[in-house]
Amino acid sequence: MTVQKSPQTALIHTDYKAPEGFEAFPGAIHHASTVLFKNVAAMRSGDWKDKNAYTYGLHGTPTTFTLEARLAEIEGGNHCLLAPSGLAAIAMVDFALLKSGDDVLLPENVYNPNSELGRWLSADFGITARYYDPLIGAGIAALIQPNTKLIWVEAPGSVSMEVPDLPAISEAAHARGVLVALDNTWAAGLALRGFDLGADIVMQALTKYQSGGSDVLMGAVTTRDKALYDRISLAHMRLGLGVGADDAYLVSRGLPTMRLRFDAHDAAARKLAQWLKARPEIKRVLHPAFADCPGHDIWKRDFTGAGGLFSVIFDDRYSEAQTDRFVDALKLFKIGYSWGGANSLVMPYRIQHMRQNWQDRGILVRFNVGLEDVQDLIADIERAFGEM
Ligand SMILES: *Cc1c(COP(=O)(O)O)cnc(C)c1O
Repeated sequence: MTVQKSPQTALIHTDYKAPEGFEAFPGAIHHASTVLFKNVAAMRSGDWKDKNAYTYGLHGTPTTFTLEARLAEIEGGNHCLLAPSGLAAIAMVDFALLKSGDDVLLPENVYNPNSELGRWLSADFGITARYYDPLIGAGIAALIQPNTKLIWVEAPGSVSMEVPDLPAISEAAHARGVLVALDNTWAAGLALRGFDLGADIVMQALTKYQSGGSDVLMGAVTTRDKALYDRISLAHMRLGLGVGADDAYLVSRGLPTMRLRFDAHDAAARKLAQWLKARPEIKRVLHPAFADCPGHDIWKRDFTGAGGLFSVIFDDRYSEAQTDRFVDALKLFKIGYSWGGANSLVMPYRIQHMRQNWQDRGILVRFNVGLEDVQDLIADIERAFGEM
């Protein structure tokens, strides 16, 4: 039955329903805060945890559920939750799994905001966060305390690039009932099978390769275990970590080309790294596929690819002022954080300030190799070397 409507009401209500049966590859982009219930009984029986139903935009729409299901499959997991950024995904895991009195272990080379979150948990939440040598491997067993609940692993650390022994850390953790969360952003869920190697939780900054556009912020947390997923989804709900429909769409749009982009970044980065390795300006190339990189043997054993991100250490004779001039002189490499987009990026890091026991005096510069012609990138770097 159609309701009588004034033009003012017609601005808001319509009886028109588009015909069913429309299908297209992108799927629909569902925008919603309010989700409508058929009747009161449906509202009363609605459960925000139930992914077969909808209760409120924050807890999921067909657009976000679809992206979550796809990401879980790519990662080799069963259950996935989206968060508004990679960092929000990390925080969601911590707030889901840690409480006052607990202990969390993080690698010393962990993504810096994750490290900062650990310091905050330690300062204000009665949780201890302790930092371990990323190359510790099975030696992590000696650090595990009765109150240790969670170990973060990042493979590899995204500035200093040490490759951790995930199976050894996971085995030691599981022997003591400790959960392992892997930040798998560098390998994009393609080049490292986190769950097969022992991770209980795999986190991605979808901001990087999955988006591929340098324009979206989003994170994901995937598990195989339903009970663990339920704990994390409670934190997702309590903290209100929903994502926007258009952003979810943009990430979905990036997925079909991610394999091709990842492999192209990988091939170009290895070419560039090889070229840099032969240059007198560069002392070490910190790329997991190169023998100079700590944990290279583990990379060979556990990974099937690399992607576009690596670092170099300049020869000791170059001052920071000189390497800053080098970075400023680059034209195709833009100065900026993040990676995974088509544009090449460069970033100098004060690694000696970031790490307690860092031995090397040389200046560390990180490259994100984009999708430009690698010969043009090499020429850009060669010219910038000349301006140091
Ligand atoms: C970028 C990044 C994050 C955080 O992702 P955002 O979406 O920028 O918050 C976390 N871990 C790693 C390794 C990253 O590179």
